[in-house]
Amino acid sequence: MVNVQSSNIGYPRIGEKREWKRALESFWNGNISEEKLLATTDAIRLENLRKQKELGVDLIPVGDFSLYDHVLDTSVMFGVVPKRFEYKGGKVSLETYFAIARGNKDAVASEMTKWFNTNYHYIVPELEGVTPKLVENRPLTFYKEAKEKLGIYGKPVLLGPVTYIKLARTENFSSLLQQFTPLYIQVLKELAEAGAQWVQVDEPILTSKLSSEELEQVKQVYAAIQEAVPELNIILQTYFEKVANYEAVAALPVKGLGLDFVHGDSLELLQKYGFPKDKVLFAGVIDGRNVWRADLDKKVALLNEIQTYVEKDRLIVQPSASLLHVPVSTKLEERLDQVIKGGLAFADEKLTEIVLLSKGVHEGAVAIEEGLEASRNALSVLNNSKYRQNAKVKGNIEKLIEQDVNRTLPFAERIKKQQQRFNLPLLPTTTIGSLPQTPEVRQTRSKWRKGEITDQAYEQFVQQQIEKWIKIQEEIGIDVLVHGEFERTDMVEYFGEKFDGFAVSQFGWVQSYGSRCVKPPLILGDVAFSEPITVKESVYAQSLTKKPVKGMLTGPVTILNWSFVRDDIPRFDVLNQIAYALRQEIEELEKNGIGMIQVDEPAIREGLPLDPEKSDEYLNAAVYAFKLATSSVKNDTQIHTHMCYSEFSGIIDSISALDADVISIETSRSHGEIISAFEKNTYDKEIGLGVYDIHSPRVPSKEEMKKNINRALQTIKPTQFWVNPDCGLKTRKEEETIEGLKVMLEAAKEVRESQ
Ligand code: GLN
Ligand code: ZN
Repeated sequence: MVNVQSSNIGYPRIGEKREWKRALESFWNGNISEEKLLATTDAIRLENLRKQKELGVDLIPVGDFSLYDHVLDTSVMFGVVPKRFEYKGGKVSLETYFAIARGNKDAVASEMTKWFNTNYHYIVPELEGVTPKLVENRPLTFYKEAKEKLGIYGKPVLLGPVTYIKLARTENFSSLLQQFTPLYIQVLKELAEAGAQWVQVDEPILTSKLSSEELEQVKQVYAAIQEAVPELNIILQTYFEKVANYEAVAALPVKGLGLDFVHGDSLELLQKYGFPKDKVLFAGVIDGRNVWRADLDKKVALLNEIQTYVEKDRLIVQPSASLLHVPVSTKLEERLDQVIKGGLAFADEKLTEIVLLSKGVHEGAVAIEEGLEASRNALSVLNNSKYRQNAKVKGNIEKLIEQDVNRTLPFAERIKKQQQRFNLPLLPTTTIGSLPQTPEVRQTRSKWRKGEITDQAYEQFVQQQIEKWIKIQEEIGIDVLVHGEFERTDMVEYFGEKFDGFAVSQFGWVQSYGSRCVKPPLILGDVAFSEPITVKESVYAQSLTKKPVKGMLTGPVTILNWSFVRDDIPRFDVLNQIAYALRQEIEELEKNGIGMIQVDEPAIREGLPLDPEKSDEYLNAAVYAFKLATSSVKNDTQIHTHMCYSEFSGIIDSISALDADVISIETSRSHGEIISAFEKNTYDKEIGLGVYDIHSPRVPSKEEMKKNINRALQTIKPTQFWVNPDCGLKTRKEEETIEGLKVMLEAAKEVRESQ
């Protein structure tokens, strides 16, 4: 066995240029065969392994690769296929695998949801009524592949039984755990027989509190494993937070324990409870969730401190989490300023840092001085650059936290002024902002980006779209109009490109769900407003109609949560900088006659920390930032906000504290939970619960929409209620949109008349 000093937890699947995505989508579209798909993805996987070896990582993960999602991989490995899909036992076919993930003509897909507090989505296992069986030992296949093809003695990765079953959100946790334990043992036995030395068993769920009963069950599972395969070195791997029941977890009979020292205060745990003498510590010290070069001097100091609790022979350096959550490599970035590029570390560069640090642990810091010096220089160039020394922002932060962020009148009084100004009917109708981004819209934008059409021609095109849709909205009879967001590809990137302090990479993609990847903007410097961003389009739209047109902005929390944020200053300082920049944009809109301004915050909920003790701090910061952005307007200016993709129970008070005059909320995929959450809390401001689901091409009937409205009106006063779709309409076709809105208007009218 190699002398293990460095390790990796997981590597991005998507390939340097998203070759993985392209192969998958070509296969789904019927353009390439299954053979071709597998040949392409095999090549990507082997290249990923080869690179990690070349970078000098000792323990390379195998089996972390996936054609869609590693939770779904775990399900199919155990023959867990929901009954509505064709399955006769044995290895699950690729067709069925993708059908579970994406649905097919006969059956709906399994539910998909966010993986802990990341923007990665996993397929929720459906464990009710299935009899699991080991039908394919995936980690074994990949272990052998790496050994035979590349001579790599890899570290098989498995999603652990406790986390896997918890993620299925079942009520039979304990009986399922018992059912799955022998299957996991079988997997591990076969791995041991094949010669695997270390196996990584991911149990990130151990970062949340388990009951003492559950902890006892967890102990039994790992004791059973230990008894069955004593020769195998199991690494119990956690990430994203510190372990919640540390003493119990540290006592489990495993060989290694993986802790996150970046996103959890694991050092505090060591200080308080020490580290068990019989275990190896896999120390996650390089941030697996962010893209910046690490301050290696600080990391050396951290590793030194860790060594007061565990000697270096039992200490292995690794990233804080799987590198799945960061892009592949900075080497292809050609357009970024060298100053910025030098400050970045994507997956490959992080592995270089890890290997360097592990060398430092074993040979002393002097042995790696050259590497440390190079890193120090690159960071200091960025730190001293114009990006991080923006005179417009310096000194602002102190002022910002002192600001009075309350509007001058309370809601009950300002809403009267707003009613006088806008004179809206009962149950006013509106939409969430974006209107269909047809192929024509997308092609025209892409031509403009490539320089094939002039700025002027592009602007004119956008204006034509706005004009066309203002007319359509007026004809349908909508009360509060939108300009349609035709000029935007992405609601965060659009602002990222226009505020100071942001940059956009070329290949900084990360997997979000399935083949879908996102490219979060980089917040690398001080964020500041430099010139109006949305005023032109909003003012143009407003000039075409007497009805109010809502200005449309992305909120500070969402911009923060969907970006890669600099890590050299506190995250909430960055949040306030964004909020302050937005405040200036909002003031510009108001000055130019826009009377309603919507500030979208779909990502508020997902940023909630995993550790409940940190949630108040986060929510307070979020509320403060939203108010900082929106509170300087006049009392008869109406502030809207919009939220989606979330469960809101537990955060309603914070949502109310945002003090937005009107909130619109997605409801269709939450089966009424949202309404009851708002019922219980006597929400006092205006509210629009989405009355139809825009994620599906189906246009619901008038009766269906009326039912939704009436249902909401049982608990929400008609004077408080708005009628709107669930979310933005940009993914819908034009005909569907027009049809859906017409039906919505009829439904609203009939309910209005019956009041
Ligand atoms: N205003 C945005 C839109 O309509 C909101 C998008 C969102 O909620 N994610 O597209
Ligand atoms: Zn939405």
